[in-house]
Amino acid sequence: MRLDYAYKQYFKELSTKDPLTNTYNRLKFNESLSSEIELAKRYGNTFSLIMFDIDHFKNFNDKRGHSFGDKILVEVSNLVKESIRGVDIFARWGGEEFVILLPHTVSNEATALAERLRRAIYKASLKKEMPLTCSFGVTSFYGHDNQDVIMERVDRALYKAKESGRNIVVTELYNLKRQCSR
Ligand code: GH3
Ligand code: MG
Ligand code: MG
Repeated sequence: MRLDYAYKQYFKELSTKDPLTNTYNRLKFNESLSSEIELAKRYGNTFSLIMFDIDHFKNFNDKRGHSFGDKILVEVSNLVKESIRGVDIFARWGGEEFVILLPHTVSNEATALAERLRRAIYKASLKKEMPLTCSFGVTSFYGHDNQDVIMERVDRALYKAKESGRNIVVTELYNLKRQCSR
């Protein structure tokens, strides 16, 4: 019985987690986003999304090697894990791009968290004398959003952050008002 439970746990981990960073994978994130949208529509609560991407990550790989790049991915993930709540869903979206689903969180709170993460990642990297920055996109749920619409919006915010010179948080609201903080 106990072995059966252990196997079940093991396969659950395998199917929901990214093996390198031990963050959730895209599948688990999409499932969580879908149920969060349903809950938000039914009960009128809100939630926010943060999407971030390591700046010029290719340079680290090129200069220091792929396994050094892997180590950075693990370190950045660990730093973020320390700064979020147990209910938040932190996932590797792909490559060096991550997403965080923040239940019961309005856009100002999500922007503040993204800003804290941006500073923490940069500060930790300076201690190692290896400057590393990330760009962040932030958005919140609005009544008519579906999965594609809200993901496109947070992706657009991240794109704007990259376009604005990186190492910045861009929040894109439903009415396309954009706020930048650095
Ligand atoms: P930008 O600031 O525009 O985001 O530039 P960038 O160099 O970070 O972005 P780009 O998309 O050009 O390169 C991303 C790199 O991330 C290329 C790819 O080899 C690397 N990468 C993706 N997944 C992994 C991984 O699991 N481990 C390592 N070490 N590198 C990875
Ligand atoms: Mg990048
Ligand atoms: Mg990328």
